Amino acid sequence: MRERLVEGSREAHKKWFSQFSANDIDVLTSIGLDCGADHQFFKQEILNIFDALRNRKLKKHPCLYHRFVNRYLDLTPEHIRAQVDRKLLIEDQYYCAWFFNRQMFIFDYLIARDGFESKTSKHTWLLWSPLIDNNSPEDCYKFQNKLFHVSDLNFEKLAIEHWGQPRRGCRCGLIALTESKAKAKQQEYHGNLNGK
Ligand SMILES: [Zn+2]
Repeated sequence: MRERLVEGSREAHKKWFSQFSANDIDVLTSIGLDCGADHQFFKQEILNIFDALRNRKLKKHPCLYHRFVNRYLDLTPEHIRAQVDRKLLIEDQYYCAWFFNRQMFIFDYLIARDGFESKTSKHTWLLWSPLIDNNSPEDCYKFQNKLFHVSDLNFEKLAIEHWGQPRRGCRCGLIALTESKAKAKQQEYHGNLNGK
């Protein structure tokens, strides 16, 4: 599954990037941007586009910059796109980051679920891992140290709710764990809860 997701994204990114003219490519190369699809650590196109959007020099080429913004949005589902505040997306990196965090959360979930269903992976537990700081929305706090089995329908429900609309500052992620690791975590958190 991981390979399928990565390869699909790699091909899509290559195809999108190939639409730039030779002139555009020259400009992009001069500011340190290349396609990146063949890079060893390529994972998901949305990460490459996010990096490009943070390239200050790209902003000086508004025409090119907006093509990257459009691509970033094209990589999110329609119901999300309909709610986007484009101005905020351009100005606020916490808001902008939400979109790739959402996709990577789903990416990690799909891989873990597939591993469970096809019995090819023992990482069948998910640790919901919010990054908590001054920028985190209230709603992320409740997921701290929360463990779910990958087949838990309640997890899917909560995830759909949590990722249903852009939330500035939310940087929730998922960590897939084996059952023994998950049990150890549970114990650790339970212990903490009891002040042990
Ligand atoms: Zn969150």
